[in-house]
Amino acid sequence: MAAFGSVFMPKMALATFENNQWSEASIVASDSIQLHPGAHVLHYSSTCFEGLKAFRHADGSVHVFRMDQNIKRLAQSSRLLSLPVIDEAQVSKMILDAVAEFATDVPEPPGSMYIRPTHIGTEAAVGKAAAPTLTSMLYVLLSPVGDYFTGGAKALRLLLDETGMRCAPHMGMIKSGGNYASALGPISRAKAEVQADQILFCPNGDVQETGAANFLLIDGNEIITKGLDSTFLHGVTRSSILTLAADLGMTVTERDLTVAELLERSAKPQVEAVLSGTAAVLTSVGTFIHNDKEYKVGSGEPGPIAQKLRQALNDIQWGKAEDKHNWLTKVC
Ligand SMILES: *Cc1c(COP(=O)(O)O)cnc(C)c1O
Repeated sequence: MAAFGSVFMPKMALATFENNQWSEASIVASDSIQLHPGAHVLHYSSTCFEGLKAFRHADGSVHVFRMDQNIKRLAQSSRLLSLPVIDEAQVSKMILDAVAEFATDVPEPPGSMYIRPTHIGTEAAVGKAAAPTLTSMLYVLLSPVGDYFTGGAKALRLLLDETGMRCAPHMGMIKSGGNYASALGPISRAKAEVQADQILFCPNGDVQETGAANFLLIDGNEIITKGLDSTFLHGVTRSSILTLAADLGMTVTERDLTVAELLERSAKPQVEAVLSGTAAVLTSVGTFIHNDKEYKVGSGEPGPIAQKLRQALNDIQWGKAEDKHNWLTKVC
């Protein structure tokens, strides 16, 4: 089975922003784009992206999950990076048209079609280190994916990092390439030095998120996660899981959480910790590594509440439970 996100559909939807307006979108080959070597994105990282999924239901129909939220976030990322303002209705149509073009290729559950809208600054102007690009390109790339966890989910090992940061604080809520490049060095070191799977960034003891996923702590009937502020990425999966947890009668607490409280609570046998994101949905955390010591989270294994919440979300995505919150958009 190919690695997640390494297979692409042969065509994508593409539009360009020039002379202060968006071109009409078209479906084009997805194996190349034309870009000047001086393009703004290649020098000054004017780039942002989204990740969402389309799902096949048992009756053959295809549905995109919470597309409005991802488009809103792409608009926000574009605005905060001084990229041209996107046309949200156009992007919505580009996503639906691209998925419709490859509707028969949308995998059956537990697979799905991963959708990657991308917006990049294209102006050839290496003098614009401190000025926005006047032109840009927006494309919607498709990648059919299987279950993220082929061979079963294993509880992750997270290094708690209180001194570093995932990215500059004012970049936290932007889904932008530079943030991942910024976190890569620390994550690679954590993998090599303490065999961590990910770093949970906790600047000054404030539990934030990992390189590409939000963090949630489950203590019995309560689910605790950092409240939304501008320092971290506001995940659509995070928001969906909190909504479903409330639907299931759980207490949802959005507030700051310190490393000290995290380690203290994690010693309780019933506590679970999870990472949330579109690619892997919910991934259980089994171990924290902090100042050269290891701490088991609850039982150290994937727990029953994470399993129940993941199932509740998958059931809606796969059309097996009522879509009470109107999260699905039918493509065909
Ligand atoms: C994409 C992403 C998430 C998860 O967001 P979802 O909308 O749930 O996929 C969390 N943190 C970071 C840094 C991300 O890039």
